[in-house]
This record gives sequence, C-alpha cells and structure tokens, in this order.
Amino acid sequence: MDSNKKYGFGTKAIHAGMEPDPSTGAIMTPIYQTSTFVQEYPGKHKGYAYARGKNPTRAALEKNIAALENAKYGLCFSSGMGAVDAVIKLLKPGDEVITGNDLYGGSYRMFTKVFEPLGIKFHFMDMHDAGNIKNYINANTRLLWVETPTNPTMQIVDIAACSAIAKAHNLIFAVDNTFASPYLQNPIDLGADIVMHSVTKYLGGHSDVIMGALVLNDDKLYERLAFIHNSCGATPGPMDSFLVIRGIKTLHLRMQRHCENGEKIAHFLRSHPKVEKVYWPGFEDHPNHHIAKKQMKGFGGMISFVVNGNINETFRIASSTKVFSLAESLGGVESLLNHPATMTHASIPKEEREKAGVVDNLIRLSVGTEDIEDLIEDLKQALN
Ligand SMILES: *Cc1c(COP(=O)(O)O)cnc(C)c1O
Repeated sequence: MDSNKKYGFGTKAIHAGMEPDPSTGAIMTPIYQTSTFVQEYPGKHKGYAYARGKNPTRAALEKNIAALENAKYGLCFSSGMGAVDAVIKLLKPGDEVITGNDLYGGSYRMFTKVFEPLGIKFHFMDMHDAGNIKNYINANTRLLWVETPTNPTMQIVDIAACSAIAKAHNLIFAVDNTFASPYLQNPIDLGADIVMHSVTKYLGGHSDVIMGALVLNDDKLYERLAFIHNSCGATPGPMDSFLVIRGIKTLHLRMQRHCENGEKIAHFLRSHPKVEKVYWPGFEDHPNHHIAKKQMKGFGGMISFVVNGNINETFRIASSTKVFSLAESLGGVESLLNHPATMTHASIPKEEREKAGVVDNLIRLSVGTEDIEDLIEDLKQALN
C-alpha cells in the first residue's frame, strides 16, 4: 500500500500492515514461532529481541488493527481482559473511574474484585444521557470507560458527547468497541483516546482465538501502555496473531452480512407473538436510535429479546434451536444464542441484573452469516 494514500475499509482490512515476507516473498505474514531473535553483537538486532516485547506476526496485526480504527498505534493482548487490565494499570490508588452500569460482566468483575481492593474507585452510572457523567467527576477522576452498544440490552452511549466532557475535565477517555467492531464505529474519530477490542469477537470472527487489543494516537500514552504490555506480559502468540490477520481480511464482508441478517431477524422477532420486547439499536423507537445513526455505519448482528412466557418456556426455546448454538461469546460467523441470566451475566446479583433489564426471560442472539431463511426458520420452530 502507498502510505500517503487514503484507502477504503475493505482495502485496509486486507492490506494494512501487510508486507511480502522479505526472505521468500510469501504474501501471508509468516507465523514467527520463536521466543528470541539472534543479535549480531550486543544490542544490534533487526528490531526484534525477545518475543514478549515484539514479534513480527503480532507487529503486522497491530499495524492492521490500528489502521482499521484510523489510529497510529495498536497493541495486541492475550485476551480482551488483558487489554482492559493494561488500561486500568495507567492509574494509581486514589484515582477514580466513571463507567456504565451495564458493563461487560468480566470488566465489572475486574473493576470491583481486582482493582477496587487496590484502591481505585469505580462509579457505575446510567450513560443513556452522557450529560449525567459530569455529576460524578471530582478532583480524583482520571478515566472515563464507555461501552456502546452495551451488552446485552444494546443501549447506545453518545461517544462525541463523552469525548467533549472528558476533554473539558482532562480525563482519559476509553471506549470498548467490541460490539460494534471497527467496521461499524470508529471512536478515535469521535475523540476517544483509547479504543479497546475483545479481538475474540468480530475481529477474529471465527470463534477460534482469544485476544484483545488497544488502539490509540497519543505518543506518551502509547509509550506507557507499551511499557505495561511488555512488563506485565499479557501478549498473544504468533499462531493466534496469524489467525486474526486471516480473520480480519473478511471483516467488512462478514459485517455487511451480520447487519443484513440482524435487521431481518430484529423485525421478525418484533412481529412474533411469543416475543415481548426486542433490543436492537436499528429500531426508530430505540431510545438512542438517533445517536446510533450518527455514530455507527450500521446496527450490527447483536439482538436481545424478552420471551413472552415463563422461565421454563425461555429455557425450552433457548435449547431447541438447530442452527443457532447455545453458547457464550459472539461475533463469529456461526449464530449463537445465549441466556444472559444464567450464562454471561450470572455473576451479577439478580437485583442488579434486573435493574439493567437482564431478566430471566431475556435471550441474546449473536446473528451469524448463515443464510437468513435458515436462521429465521430455526427461530420460528424454536418459538413455536
Ligand atoms: C468478550 C468481551 C470482553 C472480554 O474479552 P475476552 O477476549 O473474552 O477477554 C470485553 N468486552 C466486551 C464487550 C466483550 O464482549
């Protein structure tokens, strides 16, 4: 690629960060399965010394993910949680964080069970109206951590509005962009300082890798995060990096299909008598639809719905699909169905959970890229 030229998303997904292998011309970045690199004399090497710090397969992937988010730097981690962990390690005891009250369960667990005991304070708030954030800011506030769309009720947070508040109060503003993927939403363009991804989901896209990433522009912040990355060591291996490089080459194609299928399934569910409520940001009466429309290129394939019936009926439906698989996770080519109350959100106390809309009758779908007729047919027979 010509580094002075601006390319479209699909071209970047396929080519950004990729160079033919210098020794053979191989078009695909090799899996550099090595822990160390030989030096000519002490300190003289080709930019690679020890693979925790830097590995060529991972370096190619990091450049690629950075390009997809229109950013300068990328850092890949051995899981999404590893990436979140590195961001919180920018802080020190006494610092405070403002974040949403329907956060990814793993982030909530890490914040409350790992970092709160170490002296970092977290405020969990309803971010539906970003203006409320101001009420939680004090002299110790350092970080604003936002997820949008949220999991599993698909609430939308206004990224540009959050960014303005963060800038006015000198906060680091980080966005967990896992649910949207860089194809649908680019928070850095809207003023975020750090974008985090669970690469495990849409970026990898094939349910075969656990990985995380951070993407950012600021030189100083990058220097510190790269230091934490290497010092704490949650770095992914070259085989996983290769699988994600391969996965990302079809990200734009997969996302188009996820969106098309998602839209059809959202409307199908909404018109079904066994369904009480459907959560999908593409509906015009979704509370923040206008913000979703402004900051996202499409509405994605994540949909949640409430079954009109009792818990036994919900369990029956959840276990009678033939194409949708009952499993945690999301973002892969295969359609998944999840029962948040007993699966992804089981660690959140029932009362807290229900306040956020995660009732016992809620089912979450990660709509895959299969044929839409088969997916609708499958839901139809399960709901009947
Ligand atoms: C899965 C997920 C994570 C955690 O990522 P892992 O790769 O599972 O460690 C964080 N945030 C969101 C929104 C997720 O869906």
